[in-house]
Amino acid sequence: MSSAAGPEIDRLIQLLARLPGLGPRSARRAALHLIKKRELLMAPLAAALQVALDKIEICSTCGNIDTQNPCTLCADPRREDSVIVVVADVADLWALERAQAINARYHVLGGTLSPLDGVGPKELAIDALIARAHAPNVSEVILALNATVDGQTTAHYITDLLQGANVRVTKLAHGVPVGGELDYLDEGTLAAAIRSRTAF
Ligand code: ZN
Repeated sequence: MSSAAGPEIDRLIQLLARLPGLGPRSARRAALHLIKKRELLMAPLAAALQVALDKIEICSTCGNIDTQNPCTLCADPRREDSVIVVVADVADLWALERAQAINARYHVLGGTLSPLDGVGPKELAIDALIARAHAPNVSEVILALNATVDGQTTAHYITDLLQGANVRVTKLAHGVPVGGELDYLDEGTLAAAIRSRTAF
């Protein structure tokens, strides 16, 4: 990758190109945009990156990313202590929070079991989850994991380990998405929707 600009700007483009969703072409456009909006965008972005770099911590309770530890969600007394929502990644936690789906506690595993990629139970925060689930005030663990082979394998593995804890283990429903048309759904989703039908 080479541009008509100096090595410093080349370096900026190369770093931007490593971001997910940005290829070399969009990285060049982003760099040029930042340079044009130097005062308005580039300086605040650089400052925000520096603050994030200095302050970001991983919550030692749930694994969320925040500028405080315990994180804002773990420290919030208005949240339901009896329910733990288990997610694979921080991105999933943030998605559930955007949906304002539940006002409970979270636990980030740091991925899903994937023998082919060398991800075993020790690579994930599973032991910490089992310990949290044994707390007397916890009554439900919701497995909010991906509807993929790895996600469901992980869900089964955790469910087995939770047998000894006094908690109800639940998982997300699979089925017709909000606004979805049956004719467009794949067979797996349709079959899962029929299996998990509910009373009208
Ligand atoms: Zn936390």
